[in-house]
Amino acid sequence: MSVPRPTDSVADTAYVGPLMEKMTWPAVRDAATAGLPVILPVGSTEQHGPHLPLKTDCEIPRAIAERAARHRPLIIAPTVGFGAKSRPLSGGGETFPGTLSLRATTLIAVLEDILAGLVRTGFQRICVQNWHYENGPYLWEAADLVSTTHEDARFLILDDPVPGLTDAELHAMLGPDFGGWPVEHAALAETSLMLAIAPELVVPGMALDDRAGHNPGWEVIPTPTDRISSSGVLWRASRSTAEAGERLLDAAAGCMVRALNTEFPRSE
Ligand SMILES: [Zn+2]
Repeated sequence: MSVPRPTDSVADTAYVGPLMEKMTWPAVRDAATAGLPVILPVGSTEQHGPHLPLKTDCEIPRAIAERAARHRPLIIAPTVGFGAKSRPLSGGGETFPGTLSLRATTLIAVLEDILAGLVRTGFQRICVQNWHYENGPYLWEAADLVSTTHEDARFLILDDPVPGLTDAELHAMLGPDFGGWPVEHAALAETSLMLAIAPELVVPGMALDDRAGHNPGWEVIPTPTDRISSSGVLWRASRSTAEAGERLLDAAAGCMVRALNTEFPRSE
């Protein structure tokens, strides 16, 4: 039996991206020094119906960034896996087993520390790709707070995955069952995206159509039970397809590249 030499399992060169978590610190330093933008995906740990995993909101923004990296050099920071509290009419609420959320003040502090760390690392072009509706205002707040003390850094906040697309264009891309982003939770768009990104994590035959029993257009705390979808699905998921997911993933990655090219021109 031969004794393995120390170099037998060691790559010749360091991994150079796009996933920061696999990189060495000198490789990250060099990427930041070269002026590459860094993408921070922000998601949640939240119920997504009986057919999608709790980390759905983490898989999707990272996949968008990975697809964008095919078109432009960039670095992807480790995904922030906990998000703001789930609201019943946009995420099913906090009562489902497995939904683990941060209060807003904690979330802002976490994001502020991570964004400041990226600036300290040397990145000056920082893009936050959000995929959890309730995170939106807190991402903006954290970036604004870091901006006041790090004037050289610029922050790009991507909250809408396909800004500028009309309802007609979204229906053409996803089909007539798309109910709009306000009720898009564990429904057609997210299920289709997961079928494209990680089909092994989608439970076969369990994607169903559902909704909250009553949505008067306002919210009440404590939440009446008729405002909570019993399955956690907030609209139609049953006709989701990987093909629709691919189209949406391509469109979202294209929007990320367009936003990066606009706000962080490559010639700068
Ligand atoms: Zn989601």
